[in-house]
Order: sequence, then structure tokens, then C-alpha cells
Amino acid sequence: MSFAVKLMNWYCEKGRDLPWRATHDAYIIWLSEIILQQTRVEQGMPYFHRFVEAFPIVTKFAEADEEDILRLWQGLGYYSRARNMHKAAKMVVSDFQGMFPTAYEEAIRLPGVGEYTAAAIASFSANEPRAVVDGNVYRVLARYFGVKEPINSIQGKKTFAEIAHDMLDKRNPGIYNQAIMDFGALQCKPKNPLCADCIFRVECVAFQERRVDVLPVKLKGKVSRNRYFHYFIVVEDDKILMSKRGQGDVWTNLYEFPMIETAEDVSLSDLMAHADFVQFFEENAVLEAVGKQIKQVLSHQNIYARFFIVRDPHALKKKKKGWNYYFCEKIDKLAKHKLIFSFLEKNGHLISVK
Ligand code: SF4
Repeated sequence: MSFAVKLMNWYCEKGRDLPWRATHDAYIIWLSEIILQQTRVEQGMPYFHRFVEAFPIVTKFAEADEEDILRLWQGLGYYSRARNMHKAAKMVVSDFQGMFPTAYEEAIRLPGVGEYTAAAIASFSANEPRAVVDGNVYRVLARYFGVKEPINSIQGKKTFAEIAHDMLDKRNPGIYNQAIMDFGALQCKPKNPLCADCIFRVECVAFQERRVDVLPVKLKGKVSRNRYFHYFIVVEDDKILMSKRGQGDVWTNLYEFPMIETAEDVSLSDLMAHADFVQFFEENAVLEAVGKQIKQVLSHQNIYARFFIVRDPHALKKKKKGWNYYFCEKIDKLAKHKLIFSFLEKNGHLISVK
């Protein structure tokens, strides 16, 4: 029995029953694929349902306000994905008469759609024989064939793309692609793969040569830089001070509390001696620390965040341009980045406003 047939048999028995698999609608498939990039299925599922409900067809998505899209997206991170989705939806309307493209060569023209997503759209919606190559597929193929080439090297990418295409079942590319991705997610997992009861344990090179834990090989990336964000939740009557982030850094145009960034972790007294703090806050400001330092990992940077409530609005000497007070109901509707969204979900009750 061929690799593909064995794999698809396994999938029929053990594959996941996911809502976006019950459709050939390229728009719905695209929504699910973009939401699931860098996101676990369990985390992405409620977002998928929310987006389908808010924008059941691509033209509705194209017409939406970016603020509304970002608000629905908040908590998922990687906001450029949401912005690219909006651009892509507009392009579907302007260049494809509102019909979401199902062909690989057309889908890949859309902003935010790379080779993987275009292959997923084309194979799932139109059965076009395009092999998807995501982290799961790299892992399964690297182990099954014992490939030592790094999956993130130029040559490695080429090698894996060729193997993936050779192995693809050209008559059932959609099912085959879903099968290999599920196999990687459920059976040939990154840690503790279920080799003992694997359908491939006889042919699998990594298993036979005891190299499962060293494959796939990945080249080390850039070293991440550390950044320290200190947030101030200034409360005035029944409103809270919020600030909208500008361009040129992470979280463009998303809302957060006024923040001071330091290059190193600093004590409270050093923070209060910081030039920005002295500029905006009174010397005797009382800062109420909330919770422990939170770490958020972004690509190539680690954000370490602390939060302080400032209950006396007079402690604020002056407002920076772009800092405005908002009622809580309005803050709910603002598009906030994940750090702020998660903080409010957990600690919102501590910021008691009258
Ligand atoms: S035997 Fe282990 S490493 Fe090989 S394909 Fe199966 S689960 Fe993956």
C-alpha cells in the first residue's frame, strides 16, 4: 500500500472533524487558514465562528471597517494578518468580481496568502494538485524519509517541496493534504510522537534509525531582543486613559494604556525617576502594581510588561498627544492588542470605576 493510501486510510479513521472541512467555499477555507497560522486549533476555533458570523461572504468582509476587523481579531496577535485579510477581501472584490479565487496562481496574488495558504485553498476548494507544506508536513516527511537538510534553509525548502509534491495523491489532493497535516498534529507530534502504534513504523527512517528526536533539523534564527513595557492605567471618574499606538513598531494603530518603555528591567524607584515618567506624572504619584510581570513573545522580540493603576487622575501632570479618556463600554469596542486584551480579561474587575 502506498504512503498516500495508508495516510488517507488513517485520516478516515482518526482525522479531526473541523468545521472548515465541510465546505469547498474558498472564502471560508481562506478565513480558517489565515486564522490558524501560528495559532492552535482550539484557540482559533471561536475566532473562526465569530468571523464567519460577522462576515458570511467576502464582500461583507471587504466593506467592513478595519477597526471592527481588528476588534474581532483581538487576542490572536500578529495583527498584520488581519490587515492583510482586509486588503485581500477588497482585492477579491476589485480584481475577481467578488468571487474568491480557487486557482493557486490567482489565490497567491492576494495579500497575506503565501505558498502554503494558496495550496490549501486550491486543493481544498477545487482539488487542484498542490501539496501543502506546513510545520506538520515538514516534520512527517523529514522523519519518514530521514531528511537531514534544515527545513528553513533555501535548499531544504526546495527539497521538501519536491518530496511533498512527489508524495501528493494527485487524484485526491484535498484529502491527502488534510490527512498529512492531521497526521503531523496528532500522531507524528513534535514531542513524544506516537511511534509505537504508528502505521509507518516499519518504513519510517527516523524510527528505524532512532533519530526521531533530532528530526526535523532547523537552523537557529536571530536572537530575540528584550523590551520592557510599563503600563499606567490612569482612572478618572468613570473613564480610563488610553493611547493609540503609531506606525513603525509592533501593534500599529491598536489601543493600549499609556506606556513607558525601558531597555532593561527597572525597579519602581528607577521607573519613577525615568525622564518620561517625570514629564508626565507628579513626583508623588501612587502606583498600584497589578499582578506579576507578563512575558509576550513576538517574532524576534520578547515583551516584558508590568501594569500599574493610578487612581488619582491629578497624579497625571500632562497628557501626551493621542492619550484620551474613554468610558469602559467604549474601551470594550476599541481594537486592543493581545497584551491589553488579556490583561483586561483577567484584571478588568480590579480597575473599579464609579
Ligand atoms: S514512526 Fe514515529 S516518527 Fe515515524 S512517522 Fe510514525 S510517528 Fe512519525
